[in-house]
Amino acid sequence: MTDALAEISSKSPRVEIEKFFNGPEVTRCKQQICDVGRRMWQRAYVDGNGGNLAIRVASDLVLCTPTLVSKGFMKPEDLCLVDLNGAQMAGDQRRTSEILMHLEIMKRQPRAVATVHGHPPYGTAYGLAGIVPPTGRISEYELFVSTALAPYRTPGTPDLGHEVAALVDRHNTILMANHGVVAWSHSSLEDAYFKLEILEAYCQTLCIAAQLGRPLSEMSPAQVKDLLAIKARFGIPDPRMSG
Ligand SMILES: [Zn+2]
Repeated sequence: MTDALAEISSKSPRVEIEKFFNGPEVTRCKQQICDVGRRMWQRAYVDGNGGNLAIRVASDLVLCTPTLVSKGFMKPEDLCLVDLNGAQMAGDQRRTSEILMHLEIMKRQPRAVATVHGHPPYGTAYGLAGIVPPTGRISEYELFVSTALAPYRTPGTPDLGHEVAALVDRHNTILMANHGVVAWSHSSLEDAYFKLEILEAYCQTLCIAAQLGRPLSEMSPAQVKDLLAIKARFGIPDPRMSG
């Protein structure tokens, strides 16, 4: 979010919001959402019309995906602009009902500039089994992701948003029981997508490793501590960090 973008808000005149929505900065964000959506669909992280993506483009304005559209085939003109309460401010298509969950994350976590939600099979399976993946196994996951499990709530309800938002101060990737996964980033949409991708690869690796018939090797506490120090420098939350 640039300073220029931050000047506009949901209280700005409608004509200004419309101009902003069709301007070059938001157009670039629309293209990013279409690009990441296509990558999610290609990797089977979304099924049917499932999954949704959002970018905070001003302090209380969020660009998001529409309802009932495959994330693999979105066009920039399909995207919607909403305020932090989910009221639609611009866009011809109706915004996704699941935006409420993304908005609760953004309200709770002011650093969250982008959110990505999908139903990737391995991450979703962990949520289904009620298992938070163990830590101290794979360095990539250890460095970039911190996962928690939110209880099942009906998709599209504020209740689901509240359950997820309660976890985002200390975690950047949330497994939603009986549903899917959502990740937030303090830097970009692509970074939020990377959290989802890293979690999914990690859950898949754990499933494969569990079939090999040998105990899994674990990092030592000192090795984990080294990675957590780097993670802190990246600005990524983790409940194991002090303070
Ligand atoms: Zn979903």
